[in-house]
Amino acid sequence: MAVERRKGLAVGVGRRDLLAGAGAALMLAGCAVNGEGGRHGGAPEAARSPLALTPIRATPDRITRITVCTRPFRAQGPRLEVERIGQKLVVHHYGHGGSGWSLSWGTGLVATEKAMALGERDVAVIGCGAIGLTTALQLQRAGAKVTIYAKDLPPDTRSSFATGVWSPDSRICLEQYATPAFKALWARMCLTSFQAYQSLLGLPGTPIEWVDNYNVADRKDHEEEEKPDNRPPFADSLRHDLLPDLTPHSAEVPAGLHPFGARLVRRNTNMVFNISSYARLLLDEFHANGGRIEVREFHTPADFAGVAQKVLVNCTGYGARALMGDTSIIPVRGQLARMIPQEDVHYGLFYNGVSFVPRRDGFVFQAVGPDDYYGYNDDSIEPDRPLAEQSVRIIAGLFPPPAFG
Ligand SMILES: Cc1cc2nc3c(=O)[nH]c(=O)nc-3n(C[C@H](O)[C@H](O)[C@H](O)COP(=O)(O)OP(=O)(O)OC[C@H]3O[C@@H](n4cnc5c(N)ncnc54)[C@H](O)[C@@H]3O)c2cc1C
Repeated sequence: MAVERRKGLAVGVGRRDLLAGAGAALMLAGCAVNGEGGRHGGAPEAARSPLALTPIRATPDRITRITVCTRPFRAQGPRLEVERIGQKLVVHHYGHGGSGWSLSWGTGLVATEKAMALGERDVAVIGCGAIGLTTALQLQRAGAKVTIYAKDLPPDTRSSFATGVWSPDSRICLEQYATPAFKALWARMCLTSFQAYQSLLGLPGTPIEWVDNYNVADRKDHEEEEKPDNRPPFADSLRHDLLPDLTPHSAEVPAGLHPFGARLVRRNTNMVFNISSYARLLLDEFHANGGRIEVREFHTPADFAGVAQKVLVNCTGYGARALMGDTSIIPVRGQLARMIPQEDVHYGLFYNGVSFVPRRDGFVFQAVGPDDYYGYNDDSIEPDRPLAEQSVRIIAGLFPPPAFG
């Protein structure tokens, strides 16, 4: 998703997709473009009939909640290493930026391998977000008895406030740290997670589903010149560079076949995580496997001495910054406006810097800013209601005004 304009369009378009989209846009607008062809530059989608998209009832009065959360970003990527703290062996497993849900099964497998290699079969997991829950399940599947200790449980963890789309390379590290070894690890984690998600399709409550998304652009967007940016770039093209064929290719939707008038439209297809039912499914499996949860807060690493288990997996996400004194974790703020869902709307949109995700557990509208630095180093969690309403109005602007109401 990188629910980020440059890279992910909460709807899961990569930066390269956008560039390809921009190229296609220029061609449509009659400008000369050096043809790039290749993956995304081919012929327009061979649609036979126009897209019938039910209009979204996007009005601010339908906003049910505004949530804010901080992505746990580390320039060097997630911390995945074993440390002895007093009598305990701690597998650190935190710092997944904007990719935590997406990579969780793959990164959880790596953490599980590290924990199981320590020879204990009674393991503590600290944290009950996306990372803690999936790691706990994988430890159980590997034969461990697992207890989760956490201050907050779903639906009150930061993970519960994520957009909920497949975005495995969103703010995962800075480009300069994407070494060959990191890339190999990332590709393994990404593939493992992708396959895990395919096994969660079609289940009751629709925890995971594939959804078509439309990247809609006003033609003038592509006439704007990009300003030079001297900040270190994020490694935001791992998917494109390493696993270009993992998900369906994006395609141009020709004018006349979409309901957005003269605007330029590209379709891509991405996974959506309906986090409420998905987190419930994970918790249910954890309990069914005999897992136990204890609500507990750790104030310093010395508090780890208070748990019975010798091996702990530290999945505290952004909380690790205070708990471990780890200032390598940088907050990247993001805000969602949640809205009453509509049964008949099952497509996503990206338009004018706003991402719309048709989550069944509440529609998501999100201003994604101009790049991955949007919200960077901002740990404020105060909701911004005017921004939420503006995001809703921008998406509403794609549809004719409602006849009533
Ligand atoms: C706005 C936004 C949108 C996002 N969208 C997506 C997306 O679409 N797709 C995606 O893949 N990722 C997305 N992310 C990123 C994703 O949400 C994070 O990477 C992920 O939530 C990290 O999970 P976690 O389990 O490490 O952390 P958390 O969810 O924060 O869980 C940490 C757990 O540890 C516990 N804990 C912390 N400190 C302590 C302590 N001292 N003592 C006891 N317990 C403690 C907490 O209570 C909690 O249970 C998004 C993030 C944001 C902010």
